[in-house]
Amino acid sequence: MKCPRCLASISPAQNACSACGFSATLLNGYLGNQWVKLERITDAAHCLRLEDVRRTEIILDDFERSLPQVFFAAYLGVLPKGLSVAELGFWLLNQGAFVTHSVSRRNDFGIVLVVDPAEQAASITLGYAIEKYFSPQTVTRMLQTAGIQLNRGATSRAIEVVCNQCADVLRKCAHGMKRQPDILTTGSDLGLQSLRGGHRAGSRPLAGFSSATKP
Ligand SMILES: [Zn+2]
Repeated sequence: MKCPRCLASISPAQNACSACGFSATLLNGYLGNQWVKLERITDAAHCLRLEDVRRTEIILDDFERSLPQVFFAAYLGVLPKGLSVAELGFWLLNQGAFVTHSVSRRNDFGIVLVVDPAEQAASITLGYAIEKYFSPQTVTRMLQTAGIQLNRGATSRAIEVVCNQCADVLRKCAHGMKRQPDILTTGSDLGLQSLRGGHRAGSRPLAGFSSATKP
């Protein structure tokens, strides 16, 4: 993944960026290191109308049909001061639990778009398995296109253009990222989630973190 501050590459084993000192541990200290359930669309800013959501869902359905191994999630929120859209995207991709038992693998194939509609800011965070398919120029172009829509107040259109452009990039190289089926190695790993501790504190909404930072 890319460092959310300076865009240098950070390997899964690294906890801090060797180029700028960004620390995932510090970010976790601020946002928590619990898993959060990540939906395809999280509108914490409440800026999408119902018809926007419905139209965007159709775009996301198309995306998942053509690229079943990849997960695209959009988070919309007016972020607290001191937290950038890129940092939140990095955290969500690391701590977000998509609806699958194979969470870690799936996150490698995840794309998280974070939009702060108040700042008209957006970031795209790409999982380890797919980031190689996106050049910095491609990501910049996608963010510019999204920015044009955000300037117009068309938040859902911004999600749609990024989702469609990601799909275009990935379809061109889809043959290179076919997933192998997971092999069950032990009887204790049958792909079934235990219900013990099912309601973890980690499911509290992110908005709670914002209010905690207000003076
Ligand atoms: Zn960095």
